[in-house]
Amino acid sequence: MPIQPPSLRRPGATDRKAWQRASIYGDKRKRGRAGQRDRALVLAEEPLCRACLEQGRTAASTRVDHIKPLSEGGSDERSNKQGLCIPCHDAKSAAERAANQRSRTADR
Ligand SMILES: [Zn+2]
Repeated sequence: MPIQPPSLRRPGATDRKAWQRASIYGDKRKRGRAGQRDRALVLAEEPLCRACLEQGRTAASTRVDHIKPLSEGGSDERSNKQGLCIPCHDAKSAAERAANQRSRTADR
């Protein structure tokens, strides 16, 4: 077996250059102007809350929701986004938090 030269690369090192700031956020969510533009686009395409429409109601969508949450590996792409009204978004977020809590306590 050939002897490997020593690697100067730290284990777990990324391709980030020293002058590039590491993201302080733990997810891939677009922020700043790019995020604003994306959210406005989704709301323009889906002016009505998707969850309300499924239940035969109509409400203006004012929140952009990640269908599969970023915290569960969901993407920040358009296909993973939907427009929801505030009550539907809050309910979905609460359900996701509760499910998260359950899976965390089940791990212990
Ligand atoms: Zn709704």
